[in-house]
Amino acid sequence: MAKAPGLIFLGPPGSGKGTQAQYLSQQLQIPHISTGEMLRSAIAEATSLGQQAQSYVERGELVPDELLLDLIREQLGQPKAQQGWILDGFPRNVTQAAFLDELLDLLNHFSQQAINLEVPDEVLIERLLLRGRQDDTKETIRRRLEVYRQQTQPVIEYYDQQGRLYSVDGNRVLAEVTSSLQQVVAV
Ligand code: AMP
Repeated sequence: MAKAPGLIFLGPPGSGKGTQAQYLSQQLQIPHISTGEMLRSAIAEATSLGQQAQSYVERGELVPDELLLDLIREQLGQPKAQQGWILDGFPRNVTQAAFLDELLDLLNHFSQQAINLEVPDEVLIERLLLRGRQDDTKETIRRRLEVYRQQTQPVIEYYDQQGRLYSVDGNRVLAEVTSSLQQVVAV
């Protein structure tokens, strides 16, 4: 099978990973799979997933793993994901990362790179308050950053230990970050 990129976007809320992931997905013509987006539309449509996830998202907590695993399995198994994909917002903890590795082994998927966008906390808070999404209140932001440090930071170490981690300075203008990401993807 030809090597196609499987890109895993890590980085705290407000790091710009959604925006960058969307841009790269258009450029590389591979699907952008955002668990946050999927959850927000499930909540808006009041599906069973949405109803189960809503209170967690509103509080800035992670949604229970079992609600997401089928969703990821389905997304990565679809025909258009066979040439590559960008995961944005998954994995968020080590259990999800281990699940993803097993799944990708099974699906015989290409090389994966984990990309961490680094942005200082004070910049993140400023950006999130400006963005003003429903879960971007001061209290929820604080909780989401805490959850990120506690549960998602170990995922960064997980990929680092496997030599699959690329860190990019996300505290720059959009185009500069994009250009660094393009260099990483071309590696
Ligand atoms: P995001 O748009 O990636 O910032 O995600 C928004 C919210 O959706 C998070 O604060 C979590 O409540 C939930 N969420 C998104 N992705 C995941 C995931 N992989 N595991 C658990 N919860 C998630």
